[in-house]
Amino acid sequence: MNTNPRTPHYPDTRLLINNAWRDAADGRTLDVLNPATDAVIGQVACASRADLDAALEAAQKGFEVWRSTSTVKRQQIMRAAASLLRERADTIAALMTQEQGKPLAQARGEARACANMIEWFADEGRRVYGRIVPGANMASHQMVLKQPIGPVAAFTPWNFPLNQVTRKIGPALATGCSFLCKAPEETPASPAALLQCFVDAGVPPGVVGLVYGNPADISDHLIAHPVIRLVSFTGSIAVGKQLAAKAGAHMKRVVMELGGHSPVIVAEDADVELAVRLTGGMKHRNAGQVCIAPTRYLVHESLVRDFERAYVALSEQIRVGDGMQEDTELGPLANERRLHAMERFVEDIRSRGGTIATGGKRVGDAGNFFAPTLVTDAPMDSLLFNEEPFGPIAGLRAFQNLDEAISEANRLPYGLSAYAFTRSFKNVQTLSERVEAGMLWINQAAAPTGELPFGGVKDSGLGTEGGWETLEEHVISKTVAVIGI
Ligand code: NAD
Repeated sequence: MNTNPRTPHYPDTRLLINNAWRDAADGRTLDVLNPATDAVIGQVACASRADLDAALEAAQKGFEVWRSTSTVKRQQIMRAAASLLRERADTIAALMTQEQGKPLAQARGEARACANMIEWFADEGRRVYGRIVPGANMASHQMVLKQPIGPVAAFTPWNFPLNQVTRKIGPALATGCSFLCKAPEETPASPAALLQCFVDAGVPPGVVGLVYGNPADISDHLIAHPVIRLVSFTGSIAVGKQLAAKAGAHMKRVVMELGGHSPVIVAEDADVELAVRLTGGMKHRNAGQVCIAPTRYLVHESLVRDFERAYVALSEQIRVGDGMQEDTELGPLANERRLHAMERFVEDIRSRGGTIATGGKRVGDAGNFFAPTLVTDAPMDSLLFNEEPFGPIAGLRAFQNLDEAISEANRLPYGLSAYAFTRSFKNVQTLSERVEAGMLWINQAAAPTGELPFGGVKDSGLGTEGGWETLEEHVISKTVAVIGI
């Protein structure tokens, strides 16, 4: 295992209110840990009620200024922020790897992809058009105006500390909303560095804000507060349902990007080597802590042994270690909770008679490292085939025909991402029609760029975080009808 890399400075993180960084009013902080070493590497400020109220007041004032800023000016500022992020990508990536664990190359890739996404949202914000609607009364001029919904409260998770903030700040700022984010306490420094890019690019005070603290206390306060008009959350289904219910009680619009349990259907005519290489790579990215990571491999019975051999070979070649080592491919899980969760999935499989084809155990005794794991003959009632593992564990089952595979793909209440491999156009049509998912990737790895809708169906969420559709989530459609006098 790769260990003991050189570690650059890791800063403490404060709250961002009115373009100024400040400590919590009552001085409270939490420790930040490095998941590769278990060492405390810094502190993050925990917002008190007084800090939240100051942040809300700033967000309201920022909204008034930003909604009156031209789309051209907003685009310029957002593009300047994207350029700063690109310039600072290596430094920000090193913060992310220290606090979150993912290999440096993945952290750098995340930062650069976020810069691209911010540019796409900045440009698309120029194209939020209303319309003129002809009516029965020829004297009446009927218009539909698209106006920013108002200050957005965003709650983002620790698995992609930059990407998850970017998917929320992009459409908010592009449409003229202000943006108040509670980013993850476990990975605070990289989101703070991202917001610093917006401040340095020239966003007026109050347009962006960043707080940390007790997640439930903060969401209770922000969701109920009249200033907030849209609640955007990424995280677990259980928490998403609670927050959506609270938002409903206050008649607030929501965007919910929740968990997944992605099926991978490998049809009888598929290229097995391609399927293993592309989805195996995806499974191990970010140590499997990805909402669109493959989890249930549903492979035609004629290919299942070839698939297993190739997947095990790929898994056993992966270099596990501290993400700060340049050649590490699989870093630690981001926190100890995930390590215990992996152990629970494995114990459950063993107790139900499934076979661990490779992995199934912790690596080393410091840090949260877990080996790439494949379970064959996973029982249908196993945890692995029913709950999101959010880690480097996948299960494999054989199927006899495509109908059977699609039924299994659709069996669970999740519906975020799905994958399929086939050379048949007829299969592509059948899969596109029938797989219940917000995203279906066929013969390719997921490539969720800013211009594509990103979101789930069923329990996996509400709304979307990409494409022009996400800009629609951030505007109201106001009807104005006028007869000239
Ligand atoms: P969790 O459910 O406690 O928390 C998930 C996220 O929600 C965290 O960022 C947390 O800070 C936040 N959160 C929790 N309670 C909150 C509240 N009341 N108000 C506002 N935010 C709140 O679980 P966890 O141990 O941090 O993560 C494990 C599970 O979360 C995973 O199994 C996975 O299903 C899910 N998850 C999903 C994504 C995603 O991209 N969809 C990202 C991270 C975690």
